[in-house]
Amino acid sequence: MIYNNVQKEIASKIEIETKLSNWKDWRWQLRNSISTIKKFEHITGICFGKEEREELERTFEKFPLSITPYYLSLIDRDNFRNDPVFKQAFGCVEELTTKSFELEDPLSEDKDSPVEGITHRYPDRVLFHVSNVCSMYCRHCTRKRKVGDVDFIPRKEQLQKGIDYVASNPQVRDVLLSGGDPLMLSDEKLEWLLDKITSIPHVEIVRIGTRMPVVLPYRITDKLVSMLKKYHPLWINTHFNHPNEITTSSKEALAKLADGGFPLGNQSVLLADVNDCPRIMKMLVHKLVQNRVRPYYLYQCDLSEGLSHFRTPIGKGIEIMESLVGHTSGFARPTYVIDAPGGGGKIPVMPNYIISWSTNKVVLRNYEGVITTYKEPDSYKPKMCDRDCGNCNLELAISEKDESEVIGIEKLLSDECDTISLIPGDNERLTRREHHVCD
Ligand SMILES: *Cc1c(COP(=O)(O)O)cnc(C)c1O
Repeated sequence: MIYNNVQKEIASKIEIETKLSNWKDWRWQLRNSISTIKKFEHITGICFGKEEREELERTFEKFPLSITPYYLSLIDRDNFRNDPVFKQAFGCVEELTTKSFELEDPLSEDKDSPVEGITHRYPDRVLFHVSNVCSMYCRHCTRKRKVGDVDFIPRKEQLQKGIDYVASNPQVRDVLLSGGDPLMLSDEKLEWLLDKITSIPHVEIVRIGTRMPVVLPYRITDKLVSMLKKYHPLWINTHFNHPNEITTSSKEALAKLADGGFPLGNQSVLLADVNDCPRIMKMLVHKLVQNRVRPYYLYQCDLSEGLSHFRTPIGKGIEIMESLVGHTSGFARPTYVIDAPGGGGKIPVMPNYIISWSTNKVVLRNYEGVITTYKEPDSYKPKMCDRDCGNCNLELAISEKDESEVIGIEKLLSDECDTISLIPGDNERLTRREHHVCD
């Protein structure tokens, strides 16, 4: 059922004569998004006291409110204060509490931006912010700083700057469209953009990160899917956080995308009092894989301003991973990551499985607590790699062009480079050495 009683009631409060075709029209949903407390109260019948309403007003002045009628219809009104959808969609005054360690731009996305709209953090891929708007303002948004800035979808001339950047950087093989929500663009504009990006010879894949299947599943129309299909290989990542978000409508949207041949992934954020429970997470990942969505990342909540009430200790995430590894299908298990404050990128975190190690044995433990040993080979001959494929007996010559320089920890492991340590730029001991030499 795509139009249930709650939805009918909400629709009739928005417009007396609302047809099912209106409800399922994504533009109707956007036009009628709920962005004031008054409208929220009118539609849900929920009523806040005077004091709370004033606090909420202050909160929404700083971090605006916007909920699609569809997503609003998922809230359990009789128990709304504990409802995971309510908590993600409707703010609370705790958002105004900022902590000293919180940052406006914790991931330094703006600092790592060579041109407007592009964050270039990793060697071979870029994040391209193609829209500044979303259909629903998630209260846990990591880009909370930008929410409610003048809403805009960049003009083609602005997007062109990002396209030019990708075109002039041949190492970029993967372009991730993000935002805001890229699916806030019209089909026409999105097609223009995809056409431009996919015609760049060195771009191998494009990805779209969107929360539409969760908060506005009617955006996934047949027309959109048939347009997107022209730009394969196109990967799509969405953002379900709780099993309650998997509904008839969202399943239908996911089925359209999966049938369109897009590999689907999901990025969840670990949120206190929403999904910080191994059982909820397990149910979520099971529902995702039933709908052909592969759990991709589980994010530790970022240090953005106004998110302190959502943050859990990292131990909670490790506990959840412990409850998934071995306990359920390997492909149902996301990678738990912490996006490094300051712009270091995503760092994967796992429980420890290696217990000990000697020259020829590794001691490991499994999910049941069984301790086992793996005997390492006696006869393995380490291959010296000086990155000269012509002199190597492995049957794949990698041209120099395809191999960028080794960087980071990989460099410490490499044979061709004699770097033995990585040293922070402001190392006091080494600064002393320099002075010593000068004297
Ligand atoms: C997450 C992210 C990516 C993509 O990372 P993957 O691990 O490849 O999914 C790229 N750029 C930025 C800035 C990111 O935050």
